[in-house]
Amino acid sequence: MASPDAQLGQSGEAALIRRIKKRDLHQFLKCPLCTGFFRDAHTINECLDTFCKSCIYKYFYEDQNRERCPKCQATLGGRPLETIISDQTIQKIVDLLYPQFKQKDAEAIKAMYKAFATTNPLPKDGGLIDYGVEEADLGINQEQQQK
Ligand SMILES: [Zn+2]
Ligand SMILES: [Zn+2]
Repeated sequence: MASPDAQLGQSGEAALIRRIKKRDLHQFLKCPLCTGFFRDAHTINECLDTFCKSCIYKYFYEDQNRERCPKCQATLGGRPLETIISDQTIQKIVDLLYPQFKQKDAEAIKAMYKAFATTNPLPKDGGLIDYGVEEADLGINQEQQQK
């Protein structure tokens, strides 16, 4: 039986690329720890498994005795965090295929900071720190007064 690739002609490569669906790439773009798409992808140099930065750092910080890749169990020695490098290439692929995720993340972070600022306003007397700013200059306090 002829393989599908054998039937491809001169433009075979282009046809092949077109046949790859986003869905087929998912398995390569998802973090084994949180099962979501990579956020700030970081790769273990020893085994080339990739995770979100926060997921893999949390994994090794949670238990200082962990010395193995959580995916393939490769031994990483006494300082596993030193074998982890930022993986811009794979993160760019995620960002290109799913720009909405990066945007949603940015919006969520902005909303989180805004919510935090409204529930934790600066102390009226400035606390221990003199911010050197009049209260009226702070957008967060202005917004509170309007409510
Ligand atoms: Zn993750
Ligand atoms: Zn691994």
